[in-house]
Amino acid sequence: MTTYDTTQATAAPTDLDPRVDETTRAFLARPPRLLIDGRFVEAHSDRVIDVVDPGTGHVIAHAAAGDAVDADRAVQAARRAFAHDAPWRRMSALDRGRLIERFARLLEAHADEIVALEVLDGGKLRQSVIENDLPLAIRHLEYFAGWSSKIEGNTIPVSMPDVMVRTEREPVGVVAQIVPWNFPLLMAMWKIAPALAAGCTIVLKPAENTPLTALRFGELALEAGIPAGVLNVLTGYGQEAGEALVDHPGVDKVAFTGSTAVGTRIAQRAAPMVKRVTLELGGKSPNIVFDDSPVDEAAAGAAAAIFSNAGQSCSAGSRLYVQKRSFDDVVGRLGEIASAMRVGHGLDSASQVGPLISTRQHERVRGFIDGAQEQGATVAAGGSSMPSSVDPGGFYVSPTVLTDVDDTFTAVREEIFGPVVVAQPFDDIEEIARRANDSPYGLAAGIWTRDISRANRLARRLQAGTVYINMYGATDAAAPFGGYKQSGYGRDMGHANLESYLETKTVWTSLAP
Ligand code: NAD
Repeated sequence: MTTYDTTQATAAPTDLDPRVDETTRAFLARPPRLLIDGRFVEAHSDRVIDVVDPGTGHVIAHAAAGDAVDADRAVQAARRAFAHDAPWRRMSALDRGRLIERFARLLEAHADEIVALEVLDGGKLRQSVIENDLPLAIRHLEYFAGWSSKIEGNTIPVSMPDVMVRTEREPVGVVAQIVPWNFPLLMAMWKIAPALAAGCTIVLKPAENTPLTALRFGELALEAGIPAGVLNVLTGYGQEAGEALVDHPGVDKVAFTGSTAVGTRIAQRAAPMVKRVTLELGGKSPNIVFDDSPVDEAAAGAAAAIFSNAGQSCSAGSRLYVQKRSFDDVVGRLGEIASAMRVGHGLDSASQVGPLISTRQHERVRGFIDGAQEQGATVAAGGSSMPSSVDPGGFYVSPTVLTDVDDTFTAVREEIFGPVVVAQPFDDIEEIARRANDSPYGLAAGIWTRDISRANRLARRLQAGTVYINMYGATDAAAPFGGYKQSGYGRDMGHANLESYLETKTVWTSLAP
């Protein structure tokens, strides 16, 4: 079912890359609309957001700048879809799972379109969307499709006679899901899949930089048979559409991934209404290499940990600590890898590092590199200058390795969210346990050593939601992911995540004759 009125399509941008296919061009040329109650509708105001290809800096489409009026419409639609007699609530759990599974199959069937939009909108590498983002998103739906029919309550053996007590699990209600731009498709699926499995209804707000895939998969959800109003897509700016959702009394829960600054603000605003909130926030994750680790393996692992997705991953291994004896070898090899990486547009199959998301992010990352140099850091590879091979309009930064830093440097303490790693030596496990934990964040950590008992001893001491041993950065729908400390609370993925979309109702029945 396509609910889109194509007669109102605007002219397609003329300076699109010639590799962009006709289907994608047609999508980009659509007029800006919101997906509310199963239909693409005009926003309350006619303000639009320029959607920019980060690889060229060109405007490729326009999205509606939804505001508080639109947020209210979307929440009302989600509330109606959540009514006790609405089709979604009356549906059996098994059928709900079937629809989620069908949604997964449609994402698969429309893989080419989704991949093209994700590459153009998010500046991502085509190959990594094909190999990672899309299959992981599909597996998320598959994993949680299975869970929807396995949500069970308990009977409780209370200590008084002649009563029966049971618990029932119920969906928490209408959830606002506010997601970032670094993995637009995957971050949305991390949140949508468990919410659907639990039987919630959703208003999804994609990041203003990356609204496109959400509009397309929202349409596919409808095509799968997920009833109108169950998944609404509200494009718009964080401070308008996002805050309006957080403040809306019709929203029962807010699930957020993004910066710690915005996450804190959301928690504060949601507190007076005692809304359920889960936060997946920033990180400054230590990646620790002991000197028994093979140099090539450790350097390749360190490079993948920081340079994939151009460093725009919350769990990026951005603080590299190498045991003194092998520091020069590992960091030297890492510098060689960084210098050899090909920076370029995501549509170019030779590219290994794509652009950053925006001019703002580009300036921010370059600011960190310049600032570190002013504090005395050495640029062992990369640096602020733009590689000459790339489109000068794009937001590129070379993979960068900074040395001669200490734990007080801004670049060592703050999340850079770009392809920039700070490398420092350490002596022993005691020292590294202390320094690795010396951060307000606690999202992830990596340990590289042949000594598995040492690795696990250290893993127990690290304040991090995920610890990788001799690998880095993997995620799976079945494995919980989230932060300690200021990296947030609650977990995405894994069946434990379902809990955050469920309430527990305890039902007491008198059995007295
Ligand atoms: P952000 O936190 O501002 O944006 C993330 C999402 O929150 C977007 O959808 C945005 O529209 C929305 N938002 C922004 N302000 C809001 C508000 N007041 N109320 C409700 N929603 C709001 O992130 P950003 O500005 O795009 O990036 C800034 C920094 O955040 C990055 O440099 C990076 O350090 C960090 N970041 C972290 C992650 C992560 O996965 N943990 C993702 C993106 C960005």
